[in-house]
Amino acid sequence: MAKYVFITGGVLSSVGKGITTASLGLLLKARGYHVTAIKIDPYINVDAGTMNPYMHGEVYVTEDGGETDLDLGHYERFLDTFLSKKNNITTGQVYLTVIQRERRGEYLGQTVQVIPHITDEIKRRIREVAQETSADIVLVEIGGTVGDIEGLPFLEAIRQMRMEEGFANTLFVHVALVPILSTTGEQKTKPVQHSVQELRRIGIQPDIIIARSMKPLEEEARRKIALYANLPPEAVFSNPDVEYIYEVPLVLEEQGLADYVARRLGLEQRRPDLSSWRDFVVKIKAASKPIKIAMVGKYTKLKDSYLSIIEALRHASAHLGLRPVLNWYESTAIEQGKLSPRTPVEDNDAVIVLPGFGARGAEGKISVIKEVIESGKPFLGICFGMQLAVVAIARHLAGLEGAHSTEIDPTTPYPVIDLLEEQRHIKELGGTMRLGSYPIKLIHNTLVYNVYGGREIVYERHRHRYEVNPRYLDKLVSAGMEVSGYSLEGGRVEFIELRGYRYFVGSQPHPEFRSRPMKPAPLFTGLLEAATR
Ligand code: GLN
Repeated sequence: MAKYVFITGGVLSSVGKGITTASLGLLLKARGYHVTAIKIDPYINVDAGTMNPYMHGEVYVTEDGGETDLDLGHYERFLDTFLSKKNNITTGQVYLTVIQRERRGEYLGQTVQVIPHITDEIKRRIREVAQETSADIVLVEIGGTVGDIEGLPFLEAIRQMRMEEGFANTLFVHVALVPILSTTGEQKTKPVQHSVQELRRIGIQPDIIIARSMKPLEEEARRKIALYANLPPEAVFSNPDVEYIYEVPLVLEEQGLADYVARRLGLEQRRPDLSSWRDFVVKIKAASKPIKIAMVGKYTKLKDSYLSIIEALRHASAHLGLRPVLNWYESTAIEQGKLSPRTPVEDNDAVIVLPGFGARGAEGKISVIKEVIESGKPFLGICFGMQLAVVAIARHLAGLEGAHSTEIDPTTPYPVIDLLEEQRHIKELGGTMRLGSYPIKLIHNTLVYNVYGGREIVYERHRHRYEVNPRYLDKLVSAGMEVSGYSLEGGRVEFIELRGYRYFVGSQPHPEFRSRPMKPAPLFTGLLEAATR
């Protein structure tokens, strides 16, 4: 039977609840427990797929094609696991199921209500993940902040789960911000006191409080929080700012968080094996040789839009002893002539053209890629970045003037990137792209094949509607392009490269989603390695 750890947030959102959850998961997994993690998002969208990255940061794609919250990325990276789309529960999903059931007449004349019907569906979804994963411990993070109207049904559901699963099988962890007054430097606990009160009003007494603060929690603050939260001081943990998120598990381990959790859940005390994680943290902190990477995209104002790519670069560079310096370039500014397309190429050791959608900034990206082609700088184009690389190759190497993706220019004379055949009849936008992991057959003796260590078949995750138009392949190949990987089924172009270049690679899938601290994604390692040569 699974044990459940529910993580709520207090005072502010974005205090690092996701990292805290992922860290606790890692510490429990390092003790040999089978751990899974669920993120609950109390918004009405069915999934994150239809949301602009400026709203909630990147859309994280799971193996099974879920378009999920970016916290699932933290969980997967810290737990080194693959999660399902079922590990991200939203209000939209819950209501959709309940309303469809009601329309089918399955409630047999009852009035359908938040309690019990919505709360029952929430609990069913949480337990379904527990059963399907056969996890020993299920971490359930409730998004948002205690007190949000949207979050109430979820808090009610987990309150009920304590009764149904039993005290010894459930644990409430409250992660809350302890601000520091700039005038006195004092840690103020009042906001935490209030969020705990709010939790108790709903019927939840937290078992553990994790205080997020810029500095380690002072004794006086710990004592006060414990007193007002009705907890022993040992149940109050400190989660101060650190340089790298990967240090958080170690900071929490030092204070005995996971032992406390295990004891409280009646699990045996086990020694954790954190050696490889510690090695990774040492590596990341010791890496000193800077490497400058141009990040060209249109959501550059919110770095969370590209979170997994940033993390993948961290993994790859730690592995190579490099310190990544990311320089961001807004492709719209390049398009409008406010910034030369040469700047990102000249000022950096490597260039990444980031994923994206739509016309804004696309020409800016293409003009940067043209400079890359002329300069020979190491280059990685991801998804949209790969598609625009094909456009640039078509225009500037294959002489197909006016070539474009039909996503941007439906009347282009050379539609080198075009809608996937199976997408032509799709009308709805939610969850209808080519999504998730598919096998890719690599072509022998290509750069990409070598970068992947000579593997025949690799798996990467997808999220796209458009693809390289096979009608133009001959022309593109004559112009110097090489297809380095095709989808095993359907023979779609998955990877491209330019012959004779140090590293010019385009990837239709998103290699960033499978990158792990100890297993960096080959396409990123390859790029950085080439950039140091
Ligand atoms: N807009 C492109 C497509 O739909 C690329 C999407 C992406 O970069 N994720 O195919």
